[in-house]
Amino acid sequence: MRGEAVYYCGNRSLRIEAVTVQPPGPDEVQISVGFCGICGTDLLIYRGRMDERVGKRRIIGHEMSGRIAALGERVEGMAVGAPVVVRPLAPCGQCHPCRTGKNRLCHSLKVFGVDLEGSMQQLWNVPARAVHRLPDGLALAHAALVEPLAVAVRDVRRARVAPGEDVLVIGGGPIGLLVALVARKAGGAVTVSEVNPHRAQLAEELGFRVINPRRANLAAEVAGATHGKGADVVFEASGNQAGLDAMTEAAAVNGRICIVGMHLDSPRLDLHRVIMRELEIIGSRAYEAEDFERAIELLREGIAAERIITEMRRLGDVGEAFRDLCENPASIKTLIVVNGAST
Ligand SMILES: [Zn+2]
Ligand SMILES: [Zn+2]
Repeated sequence: MRGEAVYYCGNRSLRIEAVTVQPPGPDEVQISVGFCGICGTDLLIYRGRMDERVGKRRIIGHEMSGRIAALGERVEGMAVGAPVVVRPLAPCGQCHPCRTGKNRLCHSLKVFGVDLEGSMQQLWNVPARAVHRLPDGLALAHAALVEPLAVAVRDVRRARVAPGEDVLVIGGGPIGLLVALVARKAGGAVTVSEVNPHRAQLAEELGFRVINPRRANLAAEVAGATHGKGADVVFEASGNQAGLDAMTEAAAVNGRICIVGMHLDSPRLDLHRVIMRELEIIGSRAYEAEDFERAIELLREGIAAERIITEMRRLGDVGEAFRDLCENPASIKTLIVVNGAST
């Protein structure tokens, strides 16, 4: 069988190629990919920032939804045609984190669409253990958000957001907005800090208090709204130095700060403030199966995650879609229509 696939070929070059698709191997499932989202990691790859890991010929994509097209040997409990998403992690299964139920922290974790061929292709063979069944009635396009929503679910879990806590999300990009939605669902009173007016407007429409840190002093605003206390939980989802400066300033004493944004360069951190306020800095990486299941449940309950989708593009327009995400400030989340809903 033949199918089309999107290859990253180094330095902002994407190529659509026809590939020969093998039947699924033992314990594998073949998926007809319906939709594939483009995320911040994909943009880092596109800009050549991850070439050491990715190489210069890789099928990208890891946020997807689709339907089962074929089953390999030994696969049980799954049916052709079933709507599914894939948890795009390939842990080794042997190391200490793997043996203690922390696949996401595997010492040699491989990620589909980064270290292994990803989901921006029409027919994709994946291990059956990575497949999650979707409930009937959930729009397949919206289900492409399960992966980033699972990231947000893990972030909120790691930060231990409790009902009634004041939560500050720094950065209202796709992940920041999803974290805000999940944190509110957990009972947090959520404020979003964002400079981009398009993103700020969406955050407001979603019902969050929004502060533009270029127009107001973020820490002072948060303190003012919390009787001088500060935020019980801060999510750093901006990925920039200003966000790192603000997170320690805006946190309450014993505040918990969850690092969500990627900081590839060595950033500055106010460790004096960490001591003086007894702050807790919490890392959060990827997700486990339970986070995928929770994300699916939240979508089914109508958490409104689909509001972050700003564009749907045909597979043939993938190059333009990436350029737009880099240049158009109104873009938040773009979905590539691979085979579409009627796969
Ligand atoms: Zn992603
Ligand atoms: Zn491992």
